[in-house]
Amino acid sequence: MQNQWNPEDAARLPGDLGQCVYASRLLGANPALVLHGGGNTSVKIQQANIFGEPEAILYVKGSGSDLATVEAKDFAPVRLDHLRRLTTLETLSDTEWLNELRGSVVDASAPPASVEAMLHALLPAKYVFHSHADAVLAITNTPGGTERIKEIYGDAVVTVPYVRPGFPVAKRCAAIFAAEISERTAGVVLLRHGLFSFGETARDAYDQMINLVNQAEAYLASYPVPVAPVDQPDPQRPLRQELADLRQAISAAAGAPMILTTHDDEQSLRFAQRADVAQISQQGPATPDHVIRTKRAPMLGRDVAAFRAAYEEYFQAHQSRASFALTMLDPAPRVALDPALGMVAAGRSAQEARIAGDIYRHTMAIIEQATALESYRSETAAEVFDFEYWELEQAKLTRLGRPPMFAGEIGLVTGAASGIGKACVESLLARGAAVVGLDINPAIEQLFDRPDFLGIRCDVTSEEQLIAALERTARVFGGLDMLILNAGIFPPSRRIADMPTAEWRKTMTINLDANMILMREAHVLLKRAPRRGRVAIIGSKNVPAPGPGAVAYSASKAALNQLARVAALEWGQDGIRINSLHPNAVFDTGLWTDEVLAARAKHYGLTVEQYKTNNVMQIEVTSRDVAELAAEMCGPLFAKTTASQVPVDGGNERVI
Ligand code: ZN
Repeated sequence: MQNQWNPEDAARLPGDLGQCVYASRLLGANPALVLHGGGNTSVKIQQANIFGEPEAILYVKGSGSDLATVEAKDFAPVRLDHLRRLTTLETLSDTEWLNELRGSVVDASAPPASVEAMLHALLPAKYVFHSHADAVLAITNTPGGTERIKEIYGDAVVTVPYVRPGFPVAKRCAAIFAAEISERTAGVVLLRHGLFSFGETARDAYDQMINLVNQAEAYLASYPVPVAPVDQPDPQRPLRQELADLRQAISAAAGAPMILTTHDDEQSLRFAQRADVAQISQQGPATPDHVIRTKRAPMLGRDVAAFRAAYEEYFQAHQSRASFALTMLDPAPRVALDPALGMVAAGRSAQEARIAGDIYRHTMAIIEQATALESYRSETAAEVFDFEYWELEQAKLTRLGRPPMFAGEIGLVTGAASGIGKACVESLLARGAAVVGLDINPAIEQLFDRPDFLGIRCDVTSEEQLIAALERTARVFGGLDMLILNAGIFPPSRRIADMPTAEWRKTMTINLDANMILMREAHVLLKRAPRRGRVAIIGSKNVPAPGPGAVAYSASKAALNQLARVAALEWGQDGIRINSLHPNAVFDTGLWTDEVLAARAKHYGLTVEQYKTNNVMQIEVTSRDVAELAAEMCGPLFAKTTASQVPVDGGNERVI
């Protein structure tokens, strides 16, 4: 591990807290030290209180920020003496302890202090840094961990046995630190948890962290992890139904819809194919902090028995998966391991699933390294379960509030690169869904750069490409809950007498056939949607009120309308609801080139401006208006409505 300290960069963040911020970002940028908001740092500063008296303040990283991007304002200033004095108490409940921790922050606008603040307070040095370094965990998470740490560091490091976070660990550390920390101490190892380094300058403390980790890495170099050959699964084998089944089971256990991301890279497949995977993967997370990181959202109905029941059902349906193993990062699993799928990571959002996957990637490396060394050992499932439920965690969860409407759900929108389709993507994202956008325009792939969006270039007239898009949707997000059928073309105005057969067929292929094929192929996924599938169809005013010169468009949209009605009849028993919107005169879309707009306006003897607001209410209808209605039709407001046809046109006399 490289020492990244750069004196010039460090000098740009002056002051004691600035130096702490600089070091924090260096530590946070190294995933072998800390991951996704894990780890924390602190600096002790003398400052005047409101009475002008000097007071020792511990600036400790607050919860909710990431070390890699931390700023001075993300640190919580805590009264140091008050924190230290708490450890003289015999006992303190988690609630009392949390209350004292909050009450000793001197700035009301600061974030809550890290739950590990007490350990920072107890260490005497000015700067204290804490990481969950992979190399140290691979050593401490073995039965002989304590002896190995002694062997590597001798007396330079003080070790603390595993104690549950919160007051118990602080109490234990207070006693150990008082008895064992001396001027020669270079760091503290919390067994099965992580590492503390410290120093009188930020650079000293940082150097110390890197040195300690390097010593661990050097030790591990003598115990290489054997690299077994990987049995590559057939990339052509369809997996979407199986993944949707798994998502259904995990969502049932979680009590809410979950996003599942499949990782079939070499490392994941190799780990999932290990003969001992069922045994080594059931040893709990590598460090208790990682449990926190993987459950940012409230999980309803976390019940191991319910999960087991759902899992059994899944297992019976897929008996071929003889060595299917699940890892209890959480009472509802966050990671599933399968020899053909690799690693499947679950979360209440795409971002959470990504975090779970990142963390488990490190966990797999730690487990493999620990196994090469001796054998992997972490908290037992019961200990993890206790940890999940301890009051501090509960308090954290309450602060998170209600999840968004479509949290954990997946929507797919066709024709998503522009106009109504793009607006639909935005409306679903705004409601917390992960969204897949299909479009023939390659720009779709870069439409949004965020973990909850996947843009797929797709020609909807290709059955093969539609199926491939659904497969990819299932691998990236786990399934499909909402389908918004929007892709369509509006050919140039033409009378029936002049209609070329090719143009008629092309319109039918895109506006009608593609939607039938996509609905047919998506049915297995929609049927398995945890809250039942929903389809919103972007129809047209031309369905109830066709116009001359638009025969192909009007006929194709009318046929699509019948397709929706039949689907509502056939899929009602699966709980899938299909509702249509009939927009009219939405001009901020790809269909309406200036040419088409001018031609239609002229046809009605109006100016373009008059034509745009030519409705009963004399208002312009935008893509966003249509998209918001489509999203709401997928929401609880329309929970008991199917086969509806709702105009979104400002009122049309021919329809009214
Ligand atoms: Zn920690």
